[in-house]
Amino acid sequence: MCGGQRVPRWPNSRRLRPNLGHSSEMANRRTSGESSGRPAVQGSVPAGIVTPTSAGRSRNMQAIRRTNTKPEVQLRSALHREGFRFRKDLVVRTSTRRVRPDIVFTARKIAVFVDGCFWHCCPEHGRQPSVNSGYWSPKLARNVERDRLADAALTHDGWAVVRIWEHEPLETAIRLVKKALESRVA
Ligand SMILES: [Zn+2]
Repeated sequence: MCGGQRVPRWPNSRRLRPNLGHSSEMANRRTSGESSGRPAVQGSVPAGIVTPTSAGRSRNMQAIRRTNTKPEVQLRSALHREGFRFRKDLVVRTSTRRVRPDIVFTARKIAVFVDGCFWHCCPEHGRQPSVNSGYWSPKLARNVERDRLADAALTHDGWAVVRIWEHEPLETAIRLVKKALESRVA
């Protein structure tokens, strides 16, 4: 569940408006009923995210979630441009679980995650979907729980964990990664 209790981890950063799609598109979708057969999306589910109604659709949703998100790609590109070298989607085998950070600096043991506001329950934009909350609530709660377990496992094994919300400006994300790198110089 997306509670409001999580404290923003980067309180000094500039906040952006959530990128939750255009209301006109949402309204249009609602009235037209959409020819693709997708259910009308209402409330706070981001545009493009629909509530699965079948196992096939559920698999599709999982695939969407694994796809590189734009902020993640931007951060990788920017870091690469600045000469940083890292692993992408490397599976880190900690002593208790396998974790797949978005960016991994293996030598310095830094795991970077770019967390989607919806999927990871950002305190600013991670509102509970008003449609089919019986489906979404446990799913999102599991995501958050998995995040915390991953953090704990990595930290326990001596990794530094950097989590960046997808709504953070790129400059902020870069700064956070650099800060972690500087603090972990061998
Ligand atoms: Zn957010």
